[in-house]
Amino acid sequence: MTVTWRREGDAGLVELANPPVNAMGLAVRQGLLDAVRWAENEPGLSRVIVSGQGRAFAAGGDAREFDGDPVPPHLPDVLDAIEASTVPWIAAAHGVALGGGAELMLACRYRIAAPETKIGLPEVTLGVVPGAGGTQRLPRLVGLDTALDMIANGKPVGALDAQEMGLVDAVADDPVAHAMSLDMTSVQDRPILSALDGPAPDDDAVQKARATAHKRMRGQIAPQKAIDLVALSATTAFRDALARERQTFIELRSTEQAKALRHIFFAERAAKAPGWLDAEPLKVERAAVVGGGTMGAGIAYALLLAGIGVTLLETDADGVERAKANIGRIMDASGRRGLLSDDKRAGIEAALTVTDDYRAAAKADLAIEAAFESMEVKKTVFGALEKALPADAVLATNTSYLDVNEIAAGLADPSRLMGLHFFAPAHIMKLLEIVQGDATSHRALATGFDLAKRLRKVPVLSGVCDGFIGNRILARYREAADTLLMDGTNPWELDEAMVEFGYAMGPYEAQDLSGLDIAHANRQRQAATRDPDRRYIPIGDRMVAEGRLGKKVGVGWYRYPGGGGKVVDPLIEDLVREEAHFAKVERREFTDDEIRRRLVLAMINEAADILAEGIAQPAADIDLVTVFGYGFPRWRGGLMHYADTLGVDAIVADLRALEAEDPIAWKPSAALLACAQQGIALRDYRPNP
Ligand code: NAD
Repeated sequence: MTVTWRREGDAGLVELANPPVNAMGLAVRQGLLDAVRWAENEPGLSRVIVSGQGRAFAAGGDAREFDGDPVPPHLPDVLDAIEASTVPWIAAAHGVALGGGAELMLACRYRIAAPETKIGLPEVTLGVVPGAGGTQRLPRLVGLDTALDMIANGKPVGALDAQEMGLVDAVADDPVAHAMSLDMTSVQDRPILSALDGPAPDDDAVQKARATAHKRMRGQIAPQKAIDLVALSATTAFRDALARERQTFIELRSTEQAKALRHIFFAERAAKAPGWLDAEPLKVERAAVVGGGTMGAGIAYALLLAGIGVTLLETDADGVERAKANIGRIMDASGRRGLLSDDKRAGIEAALTVTDDYRAAAKADLAIEAAFESMEVKKTVFGALEKALPADAVLATNTSYLDVNEIAAGLADPSRLMGLHFFAPAHIMKLLEIVQGDATSHRALATGFDLAKRLRKVPVLSGVCDGFIGNRILARYREAADTLLMDGTNPWELDEAMVEFGYAMGPYEAQDLSGLDIAHANRQRQAATRDPDRRYIPIGDRMVAEGRLGKKVGVGWYRYPGGGGKVVDPLIEDLVREEAHFAKVERREFTDDEIRRRLVLAMINEAADILAEGIAQPAADIDLVTVFGYGFPRWRGGLMHYADTLGVDAIVADLRALEAEDPIAWKPSAALLACAQQGIALRDYRPNP
């Protein structure tokens, strides 16, 4: 039974029992409807109390039904029946009440939540709108402004906030017991929400919500549609507005955006160790982190938050002090944001040792190296770790570009080493590339995947290549951008075109933030192996030579007066024109569409090579990397999902056209050609063994 009911005194107790999170699929909807009928035929019931078994009240619709046609009874009808029932229903929520779960609460006459409950209507994050009355009942309960905020952003609220805004009537440790003890005389006479007048119209609030959604969820359809619907609650009769809501929900379900968001939602949840890994992970209790700079400090903090003790190793006493200060700053910021209590901080500090003495790491099960990006430094560090740690400890490097196989070759047992590539800030960014070297053992990899789970990160397995999955695509993206810059555009046109595509910022602003010296050092390193016939754009090197290192020095591709926001720097145009003149380039204009097409094609082609070489597998892993590590718009489903919506044939045709201009840079990937030939999508591509 996915819904159970029983009588206790004059109360009917209805329980959702569809583990793990009481998703409201067909059986639950039917069960709720049956429970309504049961309660109405049960003599003398004063109330029905609905609650959820297990860890949640109800987490929303059943994801397995998302792609099919809706099957009756539909949730709006079930909720109408609950709302109109002759016996008043009381919601007793705990855990999460999301989407349909929150709408179920709204259909009840009285709402109680346990203190830790999260209540929300996150439908827009899946490219749809609430489809069972949420856009109409919520504004009647909490007002237009608050409802706009909750529904257009899709962010859940905690029980105490929900109580303050009037969304729940009471917060209680045991919501069911509280519901049992309620004096029903006041509840009995409460009007149901659908019978209330709508909220007062508020154009300012609607405009404000539109502007926020445009900024934060640029390019996405669902938030604007959700705002339309909530606004309707102030002007249109409940039933008419409800019909519009349902129609909008059904239309949005099958849009490309909703499909893309569902794809990422499922890919994220499916990201775990591959089936062929046949080793048990090492249970990591204590880890060594080498280097307490940007990455090491963030990694150490992430480990500590997950309950893993950390020995942080630095070079000398100064390094130890810097590392302590770096972690202190991260904890201060977390504290200010209310994410780290004083108690928790004290616990973390007690589990952390910062030292320059490797002997302090003698008990570590795992070491993560995040020292300077130099082969020599890495080899020295692993030599020291090999001596200091137990012989069966797993070793990992956070290198961005260096050859994991070469690092491993310096070890007595190279099977102990893998890459664990975190992203900055390491305690926040969700992506973790787990890099498998030629010799890496299954045990090491299994430990990497287990760690990702404990850190709540999205793990993606990568083979060894220059830059692994993400940075390799990024390098090609930047190369294509620099080529456009040389041939006729400027950084702000390029940036704006990519923001329009859905990135939070374009490639040049992003480079200013991370520092131009890093990309420069990388190009220097690659110089020896670069194809001498490949076109090379030296503008970035000139920028570094002129000290334009980015935001940290106040000037890069943009200027940052007083360390503040970016302003366009017209001098860049002279610099670029000069370089183009030296290189005898005839510059021309590029439209925003041309810019986007080239930059996205360049990334897709590189990613297809990554698939063809077996570095990533399957294509959905590249979607995860681009969305969770590199700001590719989630609502486009990630790079490869987006490529499949363009279609492989169209991509190959576009590449062929560009190939005439530069046959090396635009040579179509073998994976794309194979897909075109076999008539399959990239998502179904498997390289030849
Ligand atoms: P960083 O310069 O901020 O920090 C490096 C730290 O390592 C310094 O504190 C230094 O004192 C310490 N160190 C150097 N040699 C050491 C040694 N032999 N033993 C112990 N400590 C030593 O650098 P970072 O940005 O944190 O990068 C560290 C590593 O992570 C690099 O390999 C980098 O490529 C990689 N990485 C960086 C980023 C990023 O965005 N910054 C992202 C992913 C990976």
